[in-house]
Amino acid sequence: MTSLKNRKFKLSDLQAAFADKPASSDVDNGDWFNVSTDLAVDSQVTVRLIEDADESNAFGAFVKTSRHGFEIHGQWKSIVCNKHTHNLPCQLCDESAKFYNEDDRENGRKLYKKDKMLAQVLIVDHDDKDLIGQYKTISFTVPLFKQILEGGLSDLDAPAWDVKDGCDLIIKKTYDGKWNKYTARFARKESPVPADMIDTIRDSQVQLSSLVPDAADDTNINLLLTEYLDSLV
Ligand SMILES: [Zn+2]
Repeated sequence: MTSLKNRKFKLSDLQAAFADKPASSDVDNGDWFNVSTDLAVDSQVTVRLIEDADESNAFGAFVKTSRHGFEIHGQWKSIVCNKHTHNLPCQLCDESAKFYNEDDRENGRKLYKKDKMLAQVLIVDHDDKDLIGQYKTISFTVPLFKQILEGGLSDLDAPAWDVKDGCDLIIKKTYDGKWNKYTARFARKESPVPADMIDTIRDSQVQLSSLVPDAADDTNINLLLTEYLDSLV
């Protein structure tokens, strides 16, 4: 295989490749609640996790996806990891491994895939009252998801997403002077979902696998990787 570093790169090709699909294809998959843009500092959102319509999902109300994300000339680019999301070959994983093999941990880490857990939620409370009662897709970073796991998910008598005996999940955003910080914890008490919403929850359940982005096109991956490697030199 020829080294990608030596290949000629044309920005116009990349722009054309992403013209009708943004590098971050999350936006195409349903209606999102994004904690970084839809939640103000020093505020919180209360949500109810909605179980996967696919009962065989061992994660219950979550589905895992993996992406590669990195900066190219100050711009954040992200693309699905075909290997860890679709069990297909992934040039970005291969390139990351190559850096690690050359003892370049920093560059290896930058190209390494990042996991996210996706969930469908019902917004139970939010400063923007228009959002209450809406269904949204939300993505949790690994640290935030660990908080959810450690925050009592396994201690509940019923799964947290049970409409009668489950618990609301509260996500808070603060600012520490340098970074936004997020915390996620379950309400201390179980509470039923409002009766008028229970039927609509059942009607709104989706197969969470439908939220997982399709495999990325090899040509797009190649262009993005080439542009990234070129930006390093
Ligand atoms: Zn990958």
